[in-house]
Amino acid sequence: MILQGIGTNGLAMGEAYVVQRDMTTGHSYQKGSCEEELHSATEALQKAKEHLLKLAGENDIFSAHFEIADDPALQEVIESNIRVNDMSAPDAIEAASKVFENLFKDIDDAYLQARADDVRDVCMQIKAFIRQSSQKNPFQGISHKCILVTNELLPSDIPLLNFDNITGIITSKGNPTSHVCIIASNKGIPALVGTAHCTETIKSGDCLLLDADNGKVHINPSPDCIHDFELKAGLQKHDQAEAVKNARLTAVTIGGRVVPVLANAGSPDDIRKALESGADGIGLLRSEFLFMEQERCPDEETQVQAYTHAAKLCRQQSLTIRTLDIGGDKLLPYMPLPHEDNPFLGQRGIRLTLAHVELFKTQIRAILRASSEGNIQIMLPFISDILELEHATELIEECKKELDCRHIAYDKMIKTGIMVETPSVVLLASEFASRVDFFSIGTNDLTQYIMAADRGNNQVSKYYNSTHPALLKAMQLIASAAHQHNIPVSVCGELASDPNYTHMLLNIGIDRLSVNSSAIPLIKEKIRNYK
Ligand code: PEP
Ligand code: MG
Repeated sequence: MILQGIGTNGLAMGEAYVVQRDMTTGHSYQKGSCEEELHSATEALQKAKEHLLKLAGENDIFSAHFEIADDPALQEVIESNIRVNDMSAPDAIEAASKVFENLFKDIDDAYLQARADDVRDVCMQIKAFIRQSSQKNPFQGISHKCILVTNELLPSDIPLLNFDNITGIITSKGNPTSHVCIIASNKGIPALVGTAHCTETIKSGDCLLLDADNGKVHINPSPDCIHDFELKAGLQKHDQAEAVKNARLTAVTIGGRVVPVLANAGSPDDIRKALESGADGIGLLRSEFLFMEQERCPDEETQVQAYTHAAKLCRQQSLTIRTLDIGGDKLLPYMPLPHEDNPFLGQRGIRLTLAHVELFKTQIRAILRASSEGNIQIMLPFISDILELEHATELIEECKKELDCRHIAYDKMIKTGIMVETPSVVLLASEFASRVDFFSIGTNDLTQYIMAADRGNNQVSKYYNSTHPALLKAMQLIASAAHQHNIPVSVCGELASDPNYTHMLLNIGIDRLSVNSSAIPLIKEKIRNYK
């Protein structure tokens, strides 16, 4: 039997390991005894109050949220839902939320009616704390090499996955630019996403042939099919080995144009693998993955150590560190964010860090301090407005002054660039280009915002096309504005890792590519064949 999906690159053969998940909570919630549920609810309420109290100093809205969480009436209704109505802690909070939301909605006053949203927000946060402490690792049973089959993988699953034992990934939801696919691709693990009914059709222990190149998985195939597959895999390995031989050499086109091929990374392991695979530097270090591995927000010293380690691994090659890019689909377990109806159009990336100035400045000071040990650049994610860029630039200057006062060394010539991920940067490319040292086009997000198609939603995947004429036009505008202002432009979205489009990107005028490590050898070969 064969199932179809959307594949990334590569082939894998192995035993299936199926994880069926309850995605309403992200992880399944096991209801306990009445006392256990009361304990979970009280503990979560306490954590939410502590969290809101800390935020209360920053903004009045959080003081109001603290008062809601601290209201004994809310606590009483939650308790009675558990004791009398035999509800689980999350259900009891949800039901209590509805009671208080409705009370506010019934009041004949627009201001008080709007407080219903605050109640909902606070209750969502309390539930987030329950989720955090009840999170079990659904993948902990993966103890041998297998192809993981599951409904959906979220960025927060990344620290839970043991990639050493995962030789392939198949999901029923998702998109090749989802963060788990990106990380898997970086590690050379093929993935097939949008594979309808995979968790119902495939059973743990089934033999699978995953052909991500052609978007297919064969379930319990015939011996002939296995034979053909092995031949194909052997040939692919041979081609890859040939390309790897030259991968450490600089890629120069036939016309003599040098095109640096950098790598995308999320961890020191990724950096090591990228450099072994011939990367000319790291064009995108997704720093949020360093934050996701921690149990609490890493302080300045911890970050200095992490970035210095990364810079040392890169030796003199460049290391572009992207500041924290959370919000959207990437969340930090220790930083519950208020509910948003449209998180991808909400407070994500630079918007979120600029709203938490100390979070931003701590990271910038750490990057600056590490810059005295390597060739580091700062990259700002999800920029959409000139004033926001100017605000970030002012804060970076403030951090430099603070380090000067403390006589702490940093690279005074450090470069700052931006990700091009929003249509507003494309339309005002020249204004942005005059204020930064480089552009890096994030086609994963730029595609979703230009095409108005959520990058994780299979139902609109036909609109999510990074080579749509609108995207090509956008990249041309960006490249031409960058060159008018003498700044380099790279592409670091997944499009850059597809060798089928390397020549197209060079035609557009892209100067550098930042790709998944496993793609480096073939991309360099493509560059060498470009006339
Ligand atoms: C992008 O949007 O293309 C990008 C590289 O950023 P991320 O995939 O981490 O959102
Ligand atoms: Mg992005």
